[in-house]
Amino acid sequence: MKPGKIFVLSAPSGTGKTTIARRLVQEIPGLALSVSLTTRKPRPGEKNGQDYFFVSRRHFQKLIQEKALVEWACVFGNYYGTLRSFVEENLRAGRPVLLNIDTRGGLQIKKRFPGARLIGLLPPSLREQERRLRQRGDLAEEEIRKRLEEARRERKTLLQFYQVRFVNRDLQSTVEKIKKFILRHA
Ligand code: ADP
Ligand code: 5GP
Repeated sequence: MKPGKIFVLSAPSGTGKTTIARRLVQEIPGLALSVSLTTRKPRPGEKNGQDYFFVSRRHFQKLIQEKALVEWACVFGNYYGTLRSFVEENLRAGRPVLLNIDTRGGLQIKKRFPGARLIGLLPPSLREQERRLRQRGDLAEEEIRKRLEEARRERKTLLQFYQVRFVNRDLQSTVEKIKKFILRHA
């Protein structure tokens, strides 16, 4: 059986990557969406094992030492990482794997799996990104400010290292374009 391919989806916070990742999984049979581990606290409505695996810093450090994470990064003061076992099992089974992670994680994945495809998503404008972050309604003002500052760095990395980029204007047409890209390269 041909091994599966990895697709990384990264975007400045508030662009719409979580919304898009969920739609892609509904629309592409067999696409495996990785659930990351994080040390941040769950936001209202988030479920353990569905949105993230919420773990302590101590547990996260242990997983790093055991090399159980295929990539990890500290984002906005919290740790986030991807389980190696999830990625490897799905690739072995020939399934494409989708990772919704930041650009630092994306670059680590590209180093380990040179065949991985890095997909960058950008908001139509900074103002629209800010509007979407606020509309989500789950972040304090200080968190919104941090994410808008970080957006500049994420954007630069996307433009420099990511293989393809899509501007998320109309949600359905962005989903269609990314879906086509994944089906072409899976
Ligand atoms: P991210 O995971 O990149 O931080 P989310 O997927 O949580 O972003 O989306 C942020 C907000 O923007 C959500 O309220 C979502 O419904 C909205 N959104 C996503 N894509 C679009 C779009 N193309 N047009 C308008 N709003 C969008
Ligand atoms: P949030 O806390 O808003 O869900 O996510 C914050 C940031 O962490 C986003 O940019 C998201 O892509 C990133 N992120 C989520 N999971 C992972 C992961 O497993 N690894 C890395 N490197 N980043 C992640």
